[in-house]
Amino acid sequence: MTATSVTASRSGARIERLPLARFTTLGVGGEAEVWFVGNHEQLAEALEQPYRVLGGGSNLVVADEGVPERVIRLTGPLAEADLTPDPELSDAETVVTGWVGGGVPLPGLIRKLQKLGLSNLEGTVGIPAQVGGAVWMNAGTRYGEMFGGLHTLEIVTPGGTRQVTPDELDWGYRRSGLSRGHVVSRVRLKLRRSDPEEVRARMDFADQARKGQPKMKTPGCAFKNPGGVSAGRLIDEAGLKGTRIGGALIAPEHGNFIVNLGGASSRDVHALLDLIRERVGVPLELEYELWPEQG
Ligand SMILES: Cc1cc2nc3c(=O)[nH]c(=O)nc-3n(C[C@H](O)[C@H](O)[C@H](O)COP(=O)(O)OP(=O)(O)OC[C@H]3O[C@@H](n4cnc5c(N)ncnc54)[C@H](O)[C@@H]3O)c2cc1C
Repeated sequence: MTATSVTASRSGARIERLPLARFTTLGVGGEAEVWFVGNHEQLAEALEQPYRVLGGGSNLVVADEGVPERVIRLTGPLAEADLTPDPELSDAETVVTGWVGGGVPLPGLIRKLQKLGLSNLEGTVGIPAQVGGAVWMNAGTRYGEMFGGLHTLEIVTPGGTRQVTPDELDWGYRRSGLSRGHVVSRVRLKLRRSDPEEVRARMDFADQARKGQPKMKTPGCAFKNPGGVSAGRLIDEAGLKGTRIGGALIAPEHGNFIVNLGGASSRDVHALLDLIRERVGVPLELEYELWPEQG
């Protein structure tokens, strides 16, 4: 397949060889065969060969060489949200929604829920994920996390499709209990009826915490806080804020954010990560996911 060719799979999924930089919030990453799947039949076909699932690309550093596996993007009905309350499962206080596709962008969903006066997920405001990626890592903040608003998850693997409830999973802080390769195709949300203005106030409050974060292209925080100490503070104390390698920069606003000034390569980002590890005296664990994995 050449760089520009577009083909269709047996079941009609669009297949295109594309730079993954286009799909990551860092704006870095080489080419892969991208499968745009819009229904369960196409998804099942996509899973017949080695694959990776791409969500909002907001936690990824993809190599300049790209990845050899097919990369799945959920589109069409798998990126749509049916927020109609299920009459059998909803009551005066609780709403259980219809299916929300794993490919739905989380920020737009959170805005819609606010307007409808539906609470439980507003603490995740400002996370630039898709629903599937946010569920897969149980993304959240101190004000709330994805598993605070889930009723059912639909999981697809090469072995088939199944529905699970959160009680059946070993979920916890930033983890869903799902294995790599489990595709979150759709979820149903469990929400609390509330006043839209109250939901908005809680969203605004949670959003305040992001004030110091850089607004440039980034995959979020680089390292986990080691033993409760702020990784950003350690990087700052090592005098590394504002350090630049190629097109990548340790943000002057916040040491735990690496940003793409334009034209950064994955190599530049890795060089900054290595420099931080070398200069900060304590072992640091990466918060980003690397494609392909290293070590
Ligand atoms: C500016 C900024 C702020 C951020 N703030 C926060 C924050 O406050 N809290 C927080 O928790 N995170 C935060 N993040 C990190 C990131 O948004 C989360 O880790 C998020 O869960 C990643 O979701 P995604 O859809 O972008 O997944 P991706 O980055 O595309 O993928 C991450 C992983 O999820 C898997 N995945 C994606 N979609 C699916 C799916 N449908 N089914 C199964 N697996 C899937 C991928 O295969 C990959 O393993 C931030 C990132 C940025 C850039």
